[in-house]
Amino acid sequence: MTARILDGAAVARTIREEVAARVSELAVRGIRPRLDVVLVGDDPASQVYVRSKARACERAGIASETHRLPAETSQAELEALIDRLDADPEVDGILVQLPLPPGLDTHRVLDRIDPEKDVDGFHPENVGLLVQGRPRFVPCTPAGIMELLDREGIAIEGRHAVVVGRSDIVGKPMALLLLHRHATVTVCHSRTADLAAVTRRADILVAAAGRLALVGPDHVKPGAVVVDVGIHRLTERQDVERLFPGDAARRARFEEKGSVLTGDVDFVRVAEVASAITPVPGGVGPLTIAMLLANTVASAERRKGGA
Ligand code: NAD
Repeated sequence: MTARILDGAAVARTIREEVAARVSELAVRGIRPRLDVVLVGDDPASQVYVRSKARACERAGIASETHRLPAETSQAELEALIDRLDADPEVDGILVQLPLPPGLDTHRVLDRIDPEKDVDGFHPENVGLLVQGRPRFVPCTPAGIMELLDREGIAIEGRHAVVVGRSDIVGKPMALLLLHRHATVTVCHSRTADLAAVTRRADILVAAAGRLALVGPDHVKPGAVVVDVGIHRLTERQDVERLFPGDAARRARFEEKGSVLTGDVDFVRVAEVASAITPVPGGVGPLTIAMLLANTVASAERRKGGA
C-alpha cells in the first residue's frame, strides 16, 4: 500500500486565504488585527519561527510587531513588557516564543498574558476552557491538525486515536481535541512500555515525540492515518540516504542546502503501510502558522469588531 499524502501546505494556503478575507472585512470597518511576538535570547530555531510568523502576518494583512529582548532579560523586565501589551488596546494577540532562556519562569510569563489575547492558547484559563470542551483559543499545532483531518475527510468519531507525546503544546491538547470529537484516545510518552504494541492499535496516529524517525512501519497498523508533528534537521548525507533511499529530489535539496527536514516518522517505510500520511516539510508546520493567524483574527473580531 502506498499512502495518500495529506497536503498540509495546501490546506494551510486555503486557511490563510479565509483569514485574509476576514481581515478585509475588518478593514472595511477600519479595524486591523495585530499580533505581538516576544522573542527572548538568540536561539536560531526560534529566530526562524518568529521571522516566518511575522512574514505570514504581513501577507495576511495582520499588523505584527516583534519584541526582541536579550537573553539576560530579567523575569521582571519580561513581565513588564507583557503587562504593557496586555494594556495596549491595539494588541489582539500576544505570543511568547518558547523555549525561554534558562532562568526565566515560563509558567509565570504565560500566566501573565491576558487570556483574551492568548492566541497560543497556553494560559491556564484557556487550557481549562479547552478541557471543558468550550474552547476560546486552541493551541495552533493541534488545532491545525484537526483542520487537516476534517478538510481531508478523515473520520474521527469512534476511531482509535493514539497520540505519541504529552507536551502542553502538542500532545495534551491534541488528545483533548480528538476526545471531544468522540475518538477513543490513548496517549503515549517516554515511559510507555512497548510503544509499537500501543501505536499499532491506532486508526489515527499522531507522532509528537521529538524523536527522529521514532515511528517505523512496525508501529503502524495497515491502513492507519499518520500525522507527523516532529521537526528534525538532517545534516549528514548518510542519514538522508538511510531515511530516503532513492529519493533523488530530497538528495538534491540536501546537496544544495546542506540539510533537509524530516519528522518523527520514518516516512518512506511508513507510507508503504499507512493509508494517509503527512510529509515533513509541508505537513503540520504550515498549518501551525495558519492557525496562529486564524486565532489572531478571531481575537480582533471579538475584541474590536463586536463579534
Ligand atoms: P516535547 O519535548 O515538549 O514533548 C515530547 C513528548 O514526547 C514528551 O511528552 C515525551 O514524553 C514524549 N516522548 C519522548 N520520547 C519518546 C519516546 N521514545 N516514546 C514515546 N514518547 C516519547 O516536544 P513538543 O513541543 O511536544 O514537540 C514535539 C515535536 O514536534 C518536536 O520535534 C517539535 O520540534 C515538533 N513541533 C512541531 C510543530 C509544528 O508546527 N510542526 C509545533 C510544535 C512542535
